[in-house]
Amino acid sequence: MSIVENICKIKTQLPKNATLIAVSKTRKVEEIREAYNEGMRDFGENKVQELVEKVDCFDSSVRWHLIGHLQTNKVKYIVGKVHLIHSLDSIKLLKEIEKRYGASNLVAKVLVQINIGKEESKTGIFKEQLNDILEACENCNNVKVKGLMAVIPKGSEEECKKYFREMKDIWEKTKRKEYKNISMDYLSMGMTHDYKIALNEGSNMVRIGEGIFGERDYNKA
Ligand SMILES: *Cc1c(COP(=O)(O)O)cnc(C)c1O
Repeated sequence: MSIVENICKIKTQLPKNATLIAVSKTRKVEEIREAYNEGMRDFGENKVQELVEKVDCFDSSVRWHLIGHLQTNKVKYIVGKVHLIHSLDSIKLLKEIEKRYGASNLVAKVLVQINIGKEESKTGIFKEQLNDILEACENCNNVKVKGLMAVIPKGSEEECKKYFREMKDIWEKTKRKEYKNISMDYLSMGMTHDYKIALNEGSNMVRIGEGIFGERDYNKA
């Protein structure tokens, strides 16, 4: 199926309140443009350099999402260029975002990434650290937390459900507390192979790469 056909199919499965992010990492500008011409405006990238290069190829109607790990020393390159940072995973990174966005008088919108499966190979905080990081966010002037993000462990449908439910539960509980600077608008979870389960379990932001653009070839990038 073509990029356009894939997008149309996924859109029919998407609840009204959910945002579809087309994960365009490793994809050429021409491929992204096909999706853009189909009306897509939310694109996800996992590397700062690749993101910054692509930003310049599109008009400002595109909302760029940084979905990969963000190193502290790269924050300066993305100020003013991304719509939402999905990968806040330390207080050190938070402080750097606060500093860099503050210097430009801008406000960064971020999601806190939770390593819900506690996998060594993945970034993100453990759920037990969420309160500490949110309390640190309360003291920021140039960072606003808009929700949570997770990449769950690979597993059976039942295992996926269990992790998605756990994330939904944390998101709901956090929503009920009243933190300054924090609104739990988004729950970013679900990728090509599990987005339907994620949406069923309450995700309102799915990040889909291969399901839109086809199989990724990392050698091409
Ligand atoms: C690559 C990536 C995705 C998309 O993965 P697909 O399996 O291609 O849908 C989603 N989220 C993150 C954080 C990613 O790095």
